[in-house]
Amino acid sequence: MTMAVTTTSHDRDLADMRRGACPALSAPMMSGDGLLARVALTAAISPGQLIGLSRLARRHGNGMLDISARGNLQVRGLSTTAAPLLDADVRALDLPLREGLAVEVPPLAGMDEMEIADPRPLAEAIREGARGITGLAPKMSVVADGHGQLRLSELLADIRLVALRVEGEVRWKVLLGGTEESGRVFNVLRETQAVEATIGLLHRLSELGPRARGHDLAGSLAESAELDMDRPGGGMPASSHPRVKGPFGTFVLAGNLCATGIGPAFGQIVAEKLVALCSEATRLGIRSLKPAFDHSLIFFGEQESCKALTAFAAENGFITSAADSRGQIATCPGSPACASATIATHEIAARAAAECGDLLDGSFKLHVSGCPKGCAHPQASALVLCGTAAGLSVIHLGKASDLPFATAAFADTNAALRRLADLVRSERRAGENSAACLARLGSGHLAATVMSGRP
Ligand code: SF4
Repeated sequence: MTMAVTTTSHDRDLADMRRGACPALSAPMMSGDGLLARVALTAAISPGQLIGLSRLARRHGNGMLDISARGNLQVRGLSTTAAPLLDADVRALDLPLREGLAVEVPPLAGMDEMEIADPRPLAEAIREGARGITGLAPKMSVVADGHGQLRLSELLADIRLVALRVEGEVRWKVLLGGTEESGRVFNVLRETQAVEATIGLLHRLSELGPRARGHDLAGSLAESAELDMDRPGGGMPASSHPRVKGPFGTFVLAGNLCATGIGPAFGQIVAEKLVALCSEATRLGIRSLKPAFDHSLIFFGEQESCKALTAFAAENGFITSAADSRGQIATCPGSPACASATIATHEIAARAAAECGDLLDGSFKLHVSGCPKGCAHPQASALVLCGTAAGLSVIHLGKASDLPFATAAFADTNAALRRLADLVRSERRAGENSAACLARLGSGHLAATVMSGRP
């Protein structure tokens, strides 16, 4: 029998989720292990600067740092007296700190010979144009994607601009809400018009108030646009080269430069380990780095330096390859780091990576969430394990806040996942990936499997 999720707990969790709190550097938010401050950057920094920040995380916080799913650095475990000291000391590091609206570009932007256009000038123009627009949602975000090797297609964005080549000229497809796949096409424009349109959309959102998000505009504006909105992608041409899904691995860039994507398991790292990685990067002559999506750090340097740093990172337990099943799991800090969490997400995720590697074949992200807020992966996933007051929710094709197809006791979490992995292994058809197999089997079959281990 499926354990019921009480309306009260679900409603409370949803209310928490709607808060949309965002821990900025000067306004840290409370978490399970103290205050949490976010350090959002607009450009690359040196390994030495990250060493400096790591030391501040040890001096003022509890020595733990997160790299968030969107590529922001977070310092954990601050007291109310330490938080302003961290703020002042971080500002003294002279980092390219983001102030105001988040306008994100892919980590290889401007160095990637495969991108259709460098999105940075457009992003800067939007950032400038948005200064003075008040009343936007705290988590409002604009993504400008030049369509290169690493893309931000899976990140949610209120407004997204994606470069296209149309009859030899660059155009920008403007989408509202969602991911690149699920967002609604608003228009396809030249760069200057795209900037003006984005500023206009931000003004409209400001008028609607701080709860308004990009998807709220999609219906009304799409109806008035001239494009054929019913066709996926607005009938515009698709990419001419395959998309690299994740940031882990090496990437060849312009000017004999290379990039290598390295990440701590599950996005969290102790300061000393980050200092060791950055010290090795400095020794190898790595020029710069950027925190990036999927909890990664992208290091830039000569090919040999990148290769040597990747080997060092792999030996020291970092994720360095897309084949690492830990990189196929999106998980928040969970218990005990976050006060809202009911499960130890990192423990569950580590066992899942070790025991269910063939299920995690890169076709979907397993989302392990400490509560229905779903910080690590706000978008839908093929499989979600979510801690709630009523037990462990198991969700198929949904978000952490969606209703589960089954629930399990906390103690049965990894065993339930192993049963699902066994099911996929035995039922998988030739050429079928895990996500497709889960979808074909359907929630009923999956629920019976999860519940089959119950006494
Ligand atoms: S999703 Fe995770 S990090 Fe976010 S509030 Fe819930 S338990 Fe905390």
